[in-house]
Amino acid sequence: MKLFSACCGHIGVDIGLLEGGGIRGELRRVPSMCFVVEHPEGLVVWDTSMHPCVCTDPVGYWGNLATTVTVPDYAENETLIARLDEAGIDASRIRFVINSHLHNDHCGMNRFFPQATVLARRSEYEHAKGLMDTGKHGYVRDDFFGDGQTLELIEYDDTFDLFGDGALVLVSTVGHTPGHQSLQVTFPSGRRFVMTGDALYTARQLATRQPPGLTFDRKEAQASADRLADLEDAGATILIHHEPSLWETRPAVALLWQEGGEAA
Ligand SMILES: [Zn+2]
Repeated sequence: MKLFSACCGHIGVDIGLLEGGGIRGELRRVPSMCFVVEHPEGLVVWDTSMHPCVCTDPVGYWGNLATTVTVPDYAENETLIARLDEAGIDASRIRFVINSHLHNDHCGMNRFFPQATVLARRSEYEHAKGLMDTGKHGYVRDDFFGDGQTLELIEYDDTFDLFGDGALVLVSTVGHTPGHQSLQVTFPSGRRFVMTGDALYTARQLATRQPPGLTFDRKEAQASADRLADLEDAGATILIHHEPSLWETRPAVALLWQEGGEAA
């Protein structure tokens, strides 16, 4: 088993969305991270960052959000496909594409893995479908999956074990959105990583058990922040997608961990 991170562009996000307290008109530049897990049962992509149209026509693809509260800084050589190529991973071998949630900076490349099954949580998909095309909620119809691509909707309350061996477990972390989830990856040695998605935006939120600024349900988001902090207390390494300090010192594509225990 291997776990890779891939930095797929950046976004200037209004600090109020990240930390709370309402829109402030001040942006913080944060990375847009994706992850790849190589498991004996197949390659799994976790989040796919932004659609390539965002490189050339962000307002056309995202609407006015792209000039106000989520301003992308994204180039064609930063897409997940380009990053996989850098890592020597054949994109046509990806078996599952799974997203923490369906906001436009987490699932924009889903359709570029046409042979892969997109595994979506039904509660997130139904919510996103209802708000796509409004230009206001960060959900874009063309992001979710492509024509002819297999979409599999899953339903669970607490956890979902992808391969039935405990290695890749989806953990419900609702609150940022109604169907938000995090991915727990456990290696045979017991070494455990949890990719938060947007259930946490900052290292400070993890340390102080605070939910992200942008929430659909604040009470649920608080419970999810607590859940992630509890996982950290139990020994897991918590990987916060949009926390710059975790990623700025690593190469754009990094092997975070592999079987045998050596960190790259
Ligand atoms: Zn989000």
